[in-house]
Amino acid sequence: MAAAFPSACGKTNFAMMVTPKGMEGWKVWTVGDDIAWIKPDATGQLRAINPEAGFFGVAPGTSEKTNPNAMDNLRRNTIFTNVALTPEGGVWWEGMTDTPPPECLDWRGQYWTPEIAEATGATAAHPNGRFTAPASQCPVIDDAWEEPDGVPIKAIIFGGRRSTTMPLVYQAFNWSAGVYTGATMGSEMTAAAAGTLGKVRRDPMAMLPFCGYHTGDYFRHWIRMQRTLTSTPRIFHVNWFRKGDDGKFLWPGFSENMRVLKWIVDRVSGRAQGKETSIGWTPHYGDIHWNGLDFPEAQFDALQKVDPVAWKQEVIGHEELFISVHDHLPPEMIYERELLICRL
Ligand code: GDP
Ligand code: MN
Repeated sequence: MAAAFPSACGKTNFAMMVTPKGMEGWKVWTVGDDIAWIKPDATGQLRAINPEAGFFGVAPGTSEKTNPNAMDNLRRNTIFTNVALTPEGGVWWEGMTDTPPPECLDWRGQYWTPEIAEATGATAAHPNGRFTAPASQCPVIDDAWEEPDGVPIKAIIFGGRRSTTMPLVYQAFNWSAGVYTGATMGSEMTAAAAGTLGKVRRDPMAMLPFCGYHTGDYFRHWIRMQRTLTSTPRIFHVNWFRKGDDGKFLWPGFSENMRVLKWIVDRVSGRAQGKETSIGWTPHYGDIHWNGLDFPEAQFDALQKVDPVAWKQEVIGHEELFISVHDHLPPEMIYERELLICRL
């Protein structure tokens, strides 16, 4: 499967996902954590290669708890930017350990202690402090990661950082609905992108910083692409970042995302049930593998809720994007929007 998330939305963590408790026997292998070059092979099967040699992750929040694979990956031959420097010549960032170092130089090179942080609010690392490490060091790198013919793509997953509206996971009804999902995806702004923190920034297929030509033409390319394929990848949307009324994440994320991946794999393989909603297929509570995680059904319902009022607001956001690219917008996008409105 290939996934497209905007910057700082969890690609690197996703690529190196660690098996959670209760899912022994399942494992993620990765060919890359950032860029996929995708094209159909001679038989019409989409295949992807990783054109890069290394991984590039957000340091703050990365720890032995959240992602031991990432921590293994960055233990040597790694370049860090905008993290804190400890007196021993080591690095530190918020979330790396429970207890901060008693003193260090912060990302600006200034003397930093937990007491100074308490008094001034200064963080030791910049929220977008990064590490870059060779992919070959990754404990779950796939044998085929440098295979010139790449690996087959059976599912495409779009996702962003959304504190409201977007359920944990849904599957688009078909390819063109999936292209609409990718075209209209967005993320709340973080330290990695300029703009107002918290506002939803539309980032079609997470290609906003990379798309070298008109975004409307890019959508058209996606629509047309299906005709050249002998099997159509299924398209999904995920959101690890939905929050409850208390402002806390509803979903534990990280390793536990493998439960969502399993449902996706099962859907693609024709093994899992789905419930039809106005935005796509979603898992019933019983369709998710819950072994090892105590996650009440009521919380799952809150996580998966499709609220028509919030979604009508969401469609207005889609419309703003469409207006900005209207002179090249494929009509399929308008039809999909109309169908979505009808279902809401
Ligand atoms: P990338 O820039 O898309 O590769 O994103 P990273 O994998 O580097 O993660 C960006 C930030 O999101 C880091 O602070 C991670 O700790 C955090 N993150 C990644 N996955 C999850 C998740 O499943 N849940 C939560 N709550 N945070 C996550
Ligand atoms: Mn990354």
